[in-house]
Amino acid sequence: MAQSCPLLQRILASSVTAAARAGKIIRDVMSLGELGIVEKGKNDLQTEADRSAQRCIMANLSQQFPKIAIIGEEGPSNCEVPSDWVTLEQDQDVLTKLCPNDYMKVADEDIVVWVDPLDGTSEYTQGLLEHVTVLIGIAVKGKAVAGVIHQPYYNYKQNQQQCKTDNNLGRTLWGLVGMGVGGFTPINPPQNGLVVATTRSHSDKMVQMALDALKPQEIIKVGGAGYKVMLLMEGKANAYVFASKGCKKWDTCAPEAILTAIGGKLTDVHGEYYCYDANVQYPNKGGVFATAKGVNHGELLTKLPQEVRDTLV
Ligand code: AMP
Ligand code: MG
Ligand code: MG
Repeated sequence: MAQSCPLLQRILASSVTAAARAGKIIRDVMSLGELGIVEKGKNDLQTEADRSAQRCIMANLSQQFPKIAIIGEEGPSNCEVPSDWVTLEQDQDVLTKLCPNDYMKVADEDIVVWVDPLDGTSEYTQGLLEHVTVLIGIAVKGKAVAGVIHQPYYNYKQNQQQCKTDNNLGRTLWGLVGMGVGGFTPINPPQNGLVVATTRSHSDKMVQMALDALKPQEIIKVGGAGYKVMLLMEGKANAYVFASKGCKKWDTCAPEAILTAIGGKLTDVHGEYYCYDANVQYPNKGGVFATAKGVNHGELLTKLPQEVRDTLV
């Protein structure tokens, strides 16, 4: 069964299990308490969890799919990992779906996988654990078409009370455009006024100016691109707006694919889609402007001030 499935579907099925394995590593690092924090740049941290989770994902995917391009936030990884980090299991739910015709014959060289092993590192180090996600995005000929968002600490406070074992923690959302989504139930966005999700740790003048112009009824400041797009998909927010150059391709590829699969949209502040080819620059220099299903993306975009547009080029 598994081998007869189209390549794209098999990569997605393996990404679902790899992301969950990486999530367990993220929890283990936190439990041990030695985060090994390194400052990569201004307001840009890396921990042992980021490094190990990336090695785990790279080892899993490159062993199974040696010919595809995989780009990880933490740079080239040593793929010699403990044997219990490698799982050749593939998610059966993904494999049993019908792959859309357009993606039946995708070849290795058409695919780029974008890996953010831990999105929301700043929040992870501050104990805001719900915000943390593992992101694996799959692009075909430059378009974000499939992805996984794994949330290692989903409902962890409730789970602690119920004494759930560590192996049962977390949840994994996946999507493939034209095939569907799994791991969650999409919920329509709020209907009574505009709710906008944005950064909590990387704000600046332009980010604020964009928010002011949209005049939202409510602003939700949370960490991570993955977590914010989940808010759009689960009825908590109408838009995710980040008028800054700080997000990278590995932050948006997986969230964009799953959001698109349920009818939402993610672009830059000019309304242009990002290209996820292997040779593109990593920063999303046009910012992030994402809307939930049913929200008029183009109309909301027109509310942004010209100064914001002119800055994000
Ligand atoms: P945030 O919404 O601030 O949590 O950011 C979403 C993603 O973009 C995270 O992976 C951040 O690390 C990244 N990011 C956003 N702004 C910056 C920045 N100024 N420097 C480095 N990373 C950033
Ligand atoms: Mg990130
Ligand atoms: Mg990261």
